[in-house]
Amino acid sequence: MASRQGQAAQTAPAIGFRDSDHAAAIGAKPARGEPAQKRRDAQRCRRAGQFARRLSTGRAQSSQKSHGKPPMTTLVFVECRPSVGLAPESLAAIAAAGAFQQPIHAVIVGHHLAALSQQTANLAGVERVYCLDDAEYATPLAEPIAELLTELAGDYSHLVAAATRFGKNVMPRVAARLDVEPVAGVSHIVNHNTFERPVYAGRAVETVQSEQKKQVITLAISAATPPMQASQPAEIVALPSPQTAHRALSRLLSPSSPVNTAATASATPSLTAAKVVVAGGGAFQHPDEFERYLTPLASALQAGLGASRPAVAQGCCGSECLVGQTGHSIAPDLYIAVGISGAYQHLAGIQAAKTVIAINSDAQAPIFANADYGLVMDMTAALPAINQQLISKSLQDNPINNN
Ligand SMILES: Cc1cc2nc3c(=O)[nH]c(=O)nc-3n(C[C@H](O)[C@H](O)[C@H](O)COP(=O)(O)OP(=O)(O)OC[C@H]3O[C@@H](n4cnc5c(N)ncnc54)[C@H](O)[C@@H]3O)c2cc1C
Repeated sequence: MASRQGQAAQTAPAIGFRDSDHAAAIGAKPARGEPAQKRRDAQRCRRAGQFARRLSTGRAQSSQKSHGKPPMTTLVFVECRPSVGLAPESLAAIAAAGAFQQPIHAVIVGHHLAALSQQTANLAGVERVYCLDDAEYATPLAEPIAELLTELAGDYSHLVAAATRFGKNVMPRVAARLDVEPVAGVSHIVNHNTFERPVYAGRAVETVQSEQKKQVITLAISAATPPMQASQPAEIVALPSPQTAHRALSRLLSPSSPVNTAATASATPSLTAAKVVVAGGGAFQHPDEFERYLTPLASALQAGLGASRPAVAQGCCGSECLVGQTGHSIAPDLYIAVGISGAYQHLAGIQAAKTVIAINSDAQAPIFANADYGLVMDMTAALPAINQQLISKSLQDNPINNN
């Protein structure tokens, strides 16, 4: 892959956005969380933990055909989800891609896309929407979509997708086909070829300067404001379906897991897009406990479900719920951690959470040093009481359902 210069100019120190300098609040008192304080923490972390590397040029010229587009245009892959529509993470990616200050073309793939492609065309900054609407793509697979994006890549300077499970499956394949090194998990776009992303479990921020001929990027900017509505809708270009034999071959050669439509089609918001996330940890020994105590809380708050590694290992939920270094990095307004100790590998995934509430029976659990509010209590007592309160409030607010 690319040769690197200026790598790791400074060793990353063990500094996080939430650290033990700030005592935990045990009880309903905010320990910290002033926006200004957070900004200071973030700046301090960046100053102390920032280092840089450069991805060099010297790539073989791509054999991709030009599609006659201006040289500096961004191509964004937009995910569609059954019963959700356009993935909120993709909308955030379009908004964030505006930082390149160049036209954005979007690619949308799936089935029955008339409304969704129109919705994409109405987003500010989007000047063209490529739409591949085919029953074969109702459950999209990474390989054919990577192939499609590679064929479209032409003169696009930036190829972007949200750093979702699926986006992270597609974009490295695109990068490999284009013979460039992908820049994964970008949290901030500095300029057209300079990006920031968290490294060392979120303890440092790496600045990557890429001088490659194309930037293939996954954006982990779930907190970005969704794009505005455009005054004029973009043009929609229908893409012809690739030949069936070609698709079948692509599946046969390297089949990847189909998108977990069971999870994405559920009524709960997806973990990376949810404003509120309720997460369970090692305290949950069995899936039944998760179902009994945590799922009602998530439903009552219309929250996404998250988990630490032990909860995933116990089969309480799928790995798509994992939060942390090897799972998702999320930025909800509210994160409720139940029976989670606060290991740094887990905390790496919630650096950008605005408010953290921890429920843990151990007052010494490290999670309290990283929480804005804490409740020292056994979850088997705390959660039913909280759920009962939420249900009562819901019944009061909606008396018509009270029968
Ligand atoms: C390379 C690497 C990568 C990793 N990546 C991740 C990652 O991405 N995400 C991740 O989560 N982990 C990750 N881990 C694992 C991580 O190190 C921790 O082991 C894990 O986060 C611990 O999860 P936990 O706190 O939920 O469980 P535990 O450590 O088992 O803690 C359970 C907590 O629940 C509390 N508790 C127990 N019973 C109750 C009760 N009845 N009521 C209330 N509280 C109770 C306990 O006091 C304790 O604090 C990684 C580890 C490695 C080595």
